[in-house]
Amino acid sequence: MIPSVLPTYNRAPLNFVSGEGSWLVEADGRRFLDLGAGIAVNVLGHANPELVEALTKQANTLWHVSNLYHIGPQQELADKLVESTFADTVFFTNSGTEACELAVKMARKYHFDNGAPERTEIITFDGSFHGRSSAGIAAAGSEKMTAGFGPLLPGFVHLPFADHDALAEAAKSPSVGAIMVEPVQGEGGIRPLPDADLKAMRDLCDAHGLLLILDEVQCGVGRTGKLFAHEWAGITPDIMMVAKGIGGGFSLGAVLATENAAKGMTAGTHGSTYGGNPLACAVGCKVMDIVAEPAFIAEVNRKAGLFRQKLEGLIASHPDVFEEVRGTGLMLGLKCKAVNTDIVTAGYANNLLTVPAADNVIRLLPPLNITDAEIDEALTRLEKAATQITQPA
Ligand SMILES: *Cc1c(COP(=O)(O)O)cnc(C)c1O
Repeated sequence: MIPSVLPTYNRAPLNFVSGEGSWLVEADGRRFLDLGAGIAVNVLGHANPELVEALTKQANTLWHVSNLYHIGPQQELADKLVESTFADTVFFTNSGTEACELAVKMARKYHFDNGAPERTEIITFDGSFHGRSSAGIAAAGSEKMTAGFGPLLPGFVHLPFADHDALAEAAKSPSVGAIMVEPVQGEGGIRPLPDADLKAMRDLCDAHGLLLILDEVQCGVGRTGKLFAHEWAGITPDIMMVAKGIGGGFSLGAVLATENAAKGMTAGTHGSTYGGNPLACAVGCKVMDIVAEPAFIAEVNRKAGLFRQKLEGLIASHPDVFEEVRGTGLMLGLKCKAVNTDIVTAGYANNLLTVPAADNVIRLLPPLNITDAEIDEALTRLEKAATQITQPA
């Protein structure tokens, strides 16, 4: 019999009933150190008092009104995002894949309104992930996600990861209108795109009149030690997708864009019932107030350095289990020699949560406010898990 919850996930036998900071409590009372943070979502940890307060205050005031009206917290969050990024304008969604939908529509409408309706194609890359909507799976294009779901949304050109020559050639096509890329691939195995490649993409877009769409759903909002990951490369996109961390655990996503890229999106061209609702935006405002502070970002970088150094030590003492540490800031990946899911499972046995990714990697995406003591504790538990992998009981 089919379970009452549609079985599209292979779930671990864990049922968390409460959380506090970097910790989650299982129904049986065990306390788990959470290095997954709901896949880079709980940037300020679980039950963060400031977020709880922002949400509760809004919940006692106003939950939902339609986007037919002005929404105060939405306006406030849009202003904050515009102030702290390249963007001139923001549309709010409830998820990352909805942000992908709008990014695709916005790019096509831009070229349509510019008198180049043939420029519908968007270049994307192997190993990418843009969510599970029809546009999202077509954009990523992997067989694993698309098999059985055809006909796929046309208009995506898939290229190898970080292959500049292939990209330079494809960008010349008169039917291409945009490049969509994650500055650091998340699901693909914590693969940072080299800064030089991101810069080259910006140049190619400028040279050929293409829009650069960055998917910062996983790597954005302080995760890499910059407010947004592209800042490391010193470039700006035309359109950027955000979600996960921006809501700190409340469903919220956004598309940020320059005025030029967004010019086709006039009244009536797009919409969302829930997107930008008062509850989500009240939380988003508080997340931005905290995470966008230079002192907070500086702490992310300091802790990332500490974590990374300790992970290098772990690899040195378990070269048969781990191969290398990769990633930027607190978006870290351990490329494994052992089977990554075995290590994740060994982590569970030591009350530690990590997240598997492609390329035999385990992801370490802790709350950005994880403490030094918790980083030490994480290492102790990873050490135990690694030892159990090499010396099975
Ligand atoms: C998670 C993710 C998405 C999809 O976000 P959802 O909120 O699950 O729809 C898109 N892009 C990237 C890079 C992601 O990590």
